[in-house]
Amino acid sequence: MRFLPVFLDLQAGPVLLIGAGELARAKLRLLAAAGARIRWYATDGNHDVNGLEPADAARIELARGDPLAADLSGVIAILCAGAGDIGPLMSARAKAVGLPVNVMDDLSHSTFIFPAIVDRGDVVVAIGTGGASPVVARRLRERIEAVLPARIGDLASFIGRWRKPIHHRVPEFTLRRRFWERVVDGPIGALVLAGRQDEAEAELRDISDPTAFAGALVSGGAQGRVTLVGAGPGDPDLLTIKALRALQDADVIFYDELVSPEILDRARRDASRVPVGRRVGNPGIGQDAINRLMIEAAKSGQRAVRLKGGDSFVFGRGGEEVEALREAGVAYSVVPGITAGLGAAAQFDVPLTFRHEALRITFLTAHKAKDAETVDWSTLTDEKMTVVVYMGMTAAPSVRAGLLSAGRSPQTPVGVFARVTRPDAQAAVGILDELPALVEQIDGGPAILIIGDVVAHSAPWRHANLKHVITQLLEAAE
Ligand code: SAH
Repeated sequence: MRFLPVFLDLQAGPVLLIGAGELARAKLRLLAAAGARIRWYATDGNHDVNGLEPADAARIELARGDPLAADLSGVIAILCAGAGDIGPLMSARAKAVGLPVNVMDDLSHSTFIFPAIVDRGDVVVAIGTGGASPVVARRLRERIEAVLPARIGDLASFIGRWRKPIHHRVPEFTLRRRFWERVVDGPIGALVLAGRQDEAEAELRDISDPTAFAGALVSGGAQGRVTLVGAGPGDPDLLTIKALRALQDADVIFYDELVSPEILDRARRDASRVPVGRRVGNPGIGQDAINRLMIEAAKSGQRAVRLKGGDSFVFGRGGEEVEALREAGVAYSVVPGITAGLGAAAQFDVPLTFRHEALRITFLTAHKAKDAETVDWSTLTDEKMTVVVYMGMTAAPSVRAGLLSAGRSPQTPVGVFARVTRPDAQAAVGILDELPALVEQIDGGPAILIIGDVVAHSAPWRHANLKHVITQLLEAAE
């Protein structure tokens, strides 16, 4: 490590900026946004600073004359960006008087460098590569951006405001640290991160005995909660950032059959994993037992995640589960997931709506032929409606019969999309009349059916057409 990351107090004095063009202006924006006072020598004489907030622009002093003769008293740092030959000369001056200097893209003349920055108010993350690769730093920054809660800065300033009063009330250091850990990890921290500062404030104020509050953490009395997380259709990269965070934070995970092992791999290493899924032919442990497990886990102070394929509120029984949690007085939240129908659409190029062609979407389930018989197919005959059928593989003959007898055209394009977004995803496309035969071509579920003209835009359809054309050409050639 050649450069030690430190944070510079920009209130302490002006920063000298020397340079011109976009490079200098980019630094100007960065410094201005950070609240710095800037004395700017524009080496090409062009001092335009368009697009800055007036308050920021007011902190910029437009300096004229020779920067090499500039008065350096009170200056806290020197920065050359787009300064040409003046950079190394300025660097020598700065070094002579012991001022930190950065010459952009010139490590040998710099005594400090700029890191890539994640800026969340009071929380700032600086990433450096010793000047070796800004691209690596930027990539890292993107990853850190993705895992940091948006309001982490609010949480820091919230705690900052309460530090002093709590310091008085909990003078002992270890206990005080535990107190703050409990605030950060518990419901108060969660409230701040959810943007509910007022409630967080009230809860913190209501703590009558901070020492007991801090001690409760070690005795395991913390309040648990349940997070219903939609895991998406299979590809772990389709987890939302919030879902990932919940998985990283979980003490216990109750997961369904449809959740892929690659997704469980993204969970916290020492979280216990409890399968609670049903499979065809295996009833699983039953909804009541699942509800009971979740409630018990939360009441014993654990952070439980209920992990389901796709989205919890799309044929996922999430509604029943939150009802049970509410009745039991357990705190919960719901993180949406990408439902299988959307996964299929994205993977196979099926625009579920399309200009004048498809103006409505219906998501329905047809678990068994029996269920299919209870569907009112007459509401699904509009040719401008795309119909997405969950759990429709075995009921495919009934889906076909129901739609045809209600009057939907037997020529309507349909697709069967199996194991979507997984490495072994598969599709079969054709027309409504041949739907059961298409399902036969599939090597196993889960699969989703999409019915509607939009399927003719899908990649497998275009593919099949091309194959058809080529076959015809070959036949003609023979
Ligand atoms: N909550 C889930 C749906 C659960 S119902 C969601 O939002 O996606 C189970 C049905 O979802 C399956 O029968 C199948 O129709 C569909 N499904 C789930 N995962 C799928 C996948 N990877 N590929 C295709 N269909 C899938």
